[in-house]
Amino acid sequence: MSSLRPLPLLGVALVLLCARATAAEIVNDVTGMNPIQVARVAAPTELEELVRLVREHPGPLSIGGGRYSMGGQTASDGVLQLDMRRFDKVLELDPERREVRVQAGITWRQLLEHLDPHDLSPQVMQSYANFTVGGSLSVNAHGRYVGQGPLVLAVRSIRLLLADGSLVQASPQENAELFYGAIGGYGGLGVIVEATLALEPNRRIERVSRVMPLAEYRAYFEREVRDAGVLMHNAILYTDDYRQVRVVSHRFSHAELTRPERLVPADRDYRLLRSARAVSTGAVGARLREGVLDPWYYRKPLVQWRNHEASLDVAELQPISGADFSHVLQEYFVPEARLESFIAAMGELFERRQVNPLNISIRHARADPGTLLAWAREDSFALVIYYRQAVSGSERERVAQWTRSLIDIALAHEGSYYLPYQIHASSAQFHAAYPRAEEFFALKRRVDPQYRWRNRLWDAYYPSP
Ligand SMILES: Cc1cc2nc3c(=O)[nH]c(=O)nc-3n(C[C@H](O)[C@H](O)[C@H](O)COP(=O)(O)OP(=O)(O)OC[C@H]3O[C@@H](n4cnc5c(N)ncnc54)[C@H](O)[C@@H]3O)c2cc1C
Repeated sequence: MSSLRPLPLLGVALVLLCARATAAEIVNDVTGMNPIQVARVAAPTELEELVRLVREHPGPLSIGGGRYSMGGQTASDGVLQLDMRRFDKVLELDPERREVRVQAGITWRQLLEHLDPHDLSPQVMQSYANFTVGGSLSVNAHGRYVGQGPLVLAVRSIRLLLADGSLVQASPQENAELFYGAIGGYGGLGVIVEATLALEPNRRIERVSRVMPLAEYRAYFEREVRDAGVLMHNAILYTDDYRQVRVVSHRFSHAELTRPERLVPADRDYRLLRSARAVSTGAVGARLREGVLDPWYYRKPLVQWRNHEASLDVAELQPISGADFSHVLQEYFVPEARLESFIAAMGELFERRQVNPLNISIRHARADPGTLLAWAREDSFALVIYYRQAVSGSERERVAQWTRSLIDIALAHEGSYYLPYQIHASSAQFHAAYPRAEEFFALKRRVDPQYRWRNRLWDAYYPSP
């Protein structure tokens, strides 16, 4: 661990000024449902500023990336929030070794713009490009990449800023405990200031899609997706009877491009897509989607660049939230063989509790190589649920209740749930889904003995000193 010299007072004053600190601010996230009053927000642009802020601030700290997490994971009452979004430079690109070193506040979109002229692409990222690299590492995100995720598998090393202001390099070979703690560690151990990520060539991909019974899906996945030249894959689960899926794969191709743009244009018009989504709610909407909208949407061949599909924008989902509603996500992971049984139990729960998801997508994730808060301890299917809810107290409580029931179902199937979304799980459920949480907490006590790194997630589950 290297450490930095103490600062003169003038330096501290300048740093605070440059970091654009703001008095008593409300920090919120993309749902608009989690306003948190922080002492102030500082948005540093240089490493020295970041280090000085951590060293000089006497109280608790939180870390904010793109603020797309949905349960207050970026802040806690009265903290200094380090807003990482202006800490966004590409530091070093090595096309030979296929790696890039970046500051952690960079978004995937910014990174794609940098990589695309070199015909390179991130090995793993989420399905949209708006998130910061630091926020993605801190949840150990995954995408639709077949045989690649979780994201930790594509990280060569990170540089971490700890609560005492020291900087430390971590990788699977060096300070491995910190590496596997900070990735997926929701800002609980310190700031990931830099990351070195693995890259892949930017190749052409061609979309193939068809509908099949859920009962045939796993055999199809074995035969035509896993180890079959497919880069990205997901399946849409139709929620009228939870028995049919539409598979969507993007496989490597040499065919003529049907979409020549290298990246999704920043000003793409999403009106048609949004209207189609708006009418596909409820059981009738699900049938309309399955019988009319999706066949129309997937009818045309699509051959594009990998980076084009990687650069999708959450703008297509807008509005994510409004004055009295929010669209929210949830995600559950189950071992491969338990997929159909989990879906049957979930469908029955949703019918009983009158839950009408807008979309359920099935993805596949490889087993985690050893992060302390691993969400997939073996090769698993992931079910991503997109849902519209009112923000009233009673509706929140209703969602909390069915969420806890669904977590119980996932646990009964030896699965788990994802942590960046609304924090409804009981402490017992959290520990059952994340059995190495105590190891993570022991590490946190060692590197953060004063409980400086806080947010709503750790407020909920970390037994603070
Ligand atoms: C529409 C939508 C689609 C999504 N799709 C996917 C998907 O396909 N796959 C998937 O896995 N997830 C998905 N997510 C979840 C998303 O990956 C996470 O919410 C991710 O954290 C968002 O990144 P962010 O930059 O907004 O992070 P934030 O929400 O700002 O932060 C998330 C956590 O990371 C911590 N953090 C942020 N930056 C740092 C840093 N530099 N160092 C240390 N800690 C830090 C924060 O303190 C917080 O605890 C989706 C979310 C939305 C809203």
